[in-house]
Amino acid sequence: MYQNKAYYFKYLFMRLFINFIVVFLLCSSVTAQDISIIPKPVHLVQREGNFIITKNTAIVIMNDADLQTAEFLNSYLKKFYGFELPVKKQAVKNSILINTKLSNTGKDAYTFESSAEGVSITGATYPGTFYGMQTLIQLLPVEKSSSLKISSVTIEDEPRFVHRGMLLDVGRYFFPVEFVKKCIDYAALHKMNYFHWHLTDDLGWRIEIKKYPNLTNVGAWRNKTNIFQFTDSTAGSEHYGGYYTQEEIKEIVQYAKDRYITVIPEIEMPAHSLAALVSYPELGCTGGPYAMPAKWDTYKEIFCAGNENTFKFIENVLDEVIELFPSPYIHIGGDECIKDRWKACPKCQARIKNENLKDEHELQSYFIRRVEKYVNAKGKTLIGWDEILEGGLAPNAVVMSWRGESGGIAAAKDKHKVIMTPSEYCYLDYPQKENEENVQDWMRLTTLEKVYSYEPVPKELNEEESRYVLGGQGNIWTEFISNPARAEYMMFPRFTALSEVLWSPKNERNLNDFTERLKIQFKRYDLWRVNYCTVFLDSASSKK
Ligand SMILES: [Zn+2]
Repeated sequence: MYQNKAYYFKYLFMRLFINFIVVFLLCSSVTAQDISIIPKPVHLVQREGNFIITKNTAIVIMNDADLQTAEFLNSYLKKFYGFELPVKKQAVKNSILINTKLSNTGKDAYTFESSAEGVSITGATYPGTFYGMQTLIQLLPVEKSSSLKISSVTIEDEPRFVHRGMLLDVGRYFFPVEFVKKCIDYAALHKMNYFHWHLTDDLGWRIEIKKYPNLTNVGAWRNKTNIFQFTDSTAGSEHYGGYYTQEEIKEIVQYAKDRYITVIPEIEMPAHSLAALVSYPELGCTGGPYAMPAKWDTYKEIFCAGNENTFKFIENVLDEVIELFPSPYIHIGGDECIKDRWKACPKCQARIKNENLKDEHELQSYFIRRVEKYVNAKGKTLIGWDEILEGGLAPNAVVMSWRGESGGIAAAKDKHKVIMTPSEYCYLDYPQKENEENVQDWMRLTTLEKVYSYEPVPKELNEEESRYVLGGQGNIWTEFISNPARAEYMMFPRFTALSEVLWSPKNERNLNDFTERLKIQFKRYDLWRVNYCTVFLDSASSKK
């Protein structure tokens, strides 16, 4: 009997011990999954306990300039949890303290503290404080609730790169103002700071220019759309198009500014300009007539570089663009310029002769340098795609490297600032899985893992040269993306991966760790009601 009893207690003890271990493991795995901050912070320490945000919690700001950060938090809470918090200007208990203490390190760093007493976010700059608030948002539960539990953590964080961007192409397909704002929110939620707005292309001119009304009366519309086939006979016949009024553009620029995001406008030249030539045929080498294209292609109709009126037109357009966009950068494209028309044009050939240029490549360089001079005189810096290296780089230009890394490497070695966006890692219109629908054969498979593996500083650069790499960006080109739902699907989750590439320290990046955090991020996408690609989830569940 006693023996049995002893055995029984031994058994009971073992059971309790096993239960304890199981509960401990469960708790620790829950805790580990509890925190899913993307991009991954530089330092994070989790402690016992948590803070509960309720309707009685206050947001406390110490600087008026931090009000926009408080307002973003409130708009997020209202949208996804159905309540807002009072904003106060003096310290109170049970609060989220948002406080910028300006430092001169030049980095948008922040510290984040949460405990049972409250939350404190201290930024070294106003954007830094805003990023700390984004971290708070990522600590919120992913289900709707009226009491929001925040884990107790201490975080010290700052971005690796100063340029973290998203490109949205609205030239090929037009996207409404509300979706543009959504994209800016997605960028903000991923601690990005540049929104590159590709506003003009062969298939559509999308920005109202008061001096040239035909650009949007004519150049913003086409009578056929052809998303996936390349023959005119299969094109749809609907009248398709759209553009942004200057008032809408101001609204979007302000919306972005409230989120510490700079909008970089792109006005394409000398190529990708067919919509402009249809509107004003006298600006082309042949004088037209031109017709709005229905399908994507690389068109040889480009601005005439021998005609003075072309430059007058571009300067007048840029005057209005510069007035609308406070961005220090103006992007002028410069890519994919087929020179056939220039070779056959007497005016372009006369320009080559009179300016002692060697060939059409140098004529392109002349074109870009001339526009750069104008942009610089207005106090702005010119950005161009890496083709602007051909025939000699404009003296102060920033290069966006898209045809692989070589343009970025050459520019950095030449002491030019570069933004890396090589197509095989950063083109989010490329397929993210096998048998992707609505993509082209020439588009390379660009999986989530591939995007995450990208290293923006090419190994060919030494330490000094690598300082010219400002960062990178993810691009949503829309030749084959005709609506917001499709754009979101192509964006997520790859854009989330790219945000970590551009923010987190190189040695902190770890694919397994990232994909664990991504599982919670998927629930966050659900909360945001975002359309996203589930191939990662599908393959993760099939591995179980
Ligand atoms: Zn010409």
